[in-house]
Amino acid sequence: MDLTYTEAEEEFRRELRTWLGANIPDEWTRPGFWEALGDDESFRVRRDWERDKALAGFAGIEWPTEFGGRGGTPGMKAIYDEETVRAHAPRTVNPLGLAFLAPTVMAIGSDAQKKEIVGPLLRNEVIWCQGFSEPGAGSDLAALATKGVRDGDDFVVNGQKVWTTNAVHGDKIFTMVRTEPGSQRHRGISMLLIDMHQDGVDARPLKQMSGASEFGEVFFDDARVAATDVLGEIGDGWRTAMLLLSFERGASGIGQYTEFRRQYDEIVEVARTLGRDTDPVIRGRLAKVLTELECLRLHAMHVLTQVEQGRDLGFEASMTKLQWSETFQDLWEVHDDVLGEDATLDSLGDLDLRPLHAQAMWSRSVTIWGGSSQVQRTITAERVLGLPR
Ligand SMILES: Cc1cc2nc3c(=O)[nH]c(=O)nc-3n(C[C@H](O)[C@H](O)[C@H](O)COP(=O)(O)OP(=O)(O)OC[C@H]3O[C@@H](n4cnc5c(N)ncnc54)[C@H](O)[C@@H]3O)c2cc1C
Repeated sequence: MDLTYTEAEEEFRRELRTWLGANIPDEWTRPGFWEALGDDESFRVRRDWERDKALAGFAGIEWPTEFGGRGGTPGMKAIYDEETVRAHAPRTVNPLGLAFLAPTVMAIGSDAQKKEIVGPLLRNEVIWCQGFSEPGAGSDLAALATKGVRDGDDFVVNGQKVWTTNAVHGDKIFTMVRTEPGSQRHRGISMLLIDMHQDGVDARPLKQMSGASEFGEVFFDDARVAATDVLGEIGDGWRTAMLLLSFERGASGIGQYTEFRRQYDEIVEVARTLGRDTDPVIRGRLAKVLTELECLRLHAMHVLTQVEQGRDLGFEASMTKLQWSETFQDLWEVHDDVLGEDATLDSLGDLDLRPLHAQAMWSRSVTIWGGSSQVQRTITAERVLGLPR
């Protein structure tokens, strides 16, 4: 395992740190700032800032320069993740497009798709949603029922998607649709790139108990999409989807570690402020989660070393997902332990608890999306350890 960066990578760190220092207003780092802005305004501010960052050359760090990327190393991407968290940079508003769609288009898209999708996505001119899950198809994605019927040069799409992140802010959606009548399970599905700004598409927000609506439902009612807007081959959408999901595997855990470690420090500070840091049970739980965090850091360095050596992690990626998501959840369970019954209050004295509550609630979702913990354990057992099915 290599725990060092090259001189060129450290130079990139200095350059990025300087840009972030000059382009993140102080007030953005204040606890509660983003929550107070509200969903729509927060989205707009982040969208614009991220576009400026892309124009300054700090986007698509590992992407080839011909696609508008920086052509950097996996080490530079890890540094990028670390420094943006450290500087309290806002989270991306286009996570599904950047992490999943763009690398897939670069790998298997038509020339027209490469030209029309990658650059505008990088500059946030188009916000992409992921339309996989349906009311009857979550972990079991092959049960999907949304249909696309060929009509001349188009497909006409009917059905419903759910849990669609950014549904109300989305411009386009990469969607798994059954395009072969009567097909079953993994066969006869295509990945269609559907324009959400048309009469046949209705995106509705789903209000969560946290008050946010970061995801929603998308209804297709005779929505139209050109047959040229299929990503990959028609009827071969399962293969396209598996390729698309595999791009999560190279994801750097360094940024996650940096973020979770900062949150850990915030939770310790709350414990001190409330005088609960002397409770031996709380101290034991804090020590346990700190150990988990350090294991996460070392695992992230291991993954980075493997990726830098050009090794495909394959199904081991499920172990990475399990480790970071369960560490994150354990961290926020300690927050609940520290606050006890006060976890239901908005504030305690001068302490504004709302940003912490928002994170604690968000932590419940991370073992569900991107493949639930149960599904990841099954993959690890069967595909990594070779245990019987
Ligand atoms: C915050 C958030 C954002 C999301 N964003 C998107 C998005 O943008 N686009 C999108 O398409 N989807 C999105 N999803 C949906 C997500 O992919 C699904 O929630 C996930 O696939 C699980 O499906 P489900 O909710 O239908 O649960 P189910 O699949 O019904 O699972 C219910 C429970 O059964 C367990 N289970 C299911 N199958 C098995 C099995 N074979 N073995 C053992 N246990 C099993 C699961 O682990 C879970 O505990 C999002 C979800 C969340 C929470």
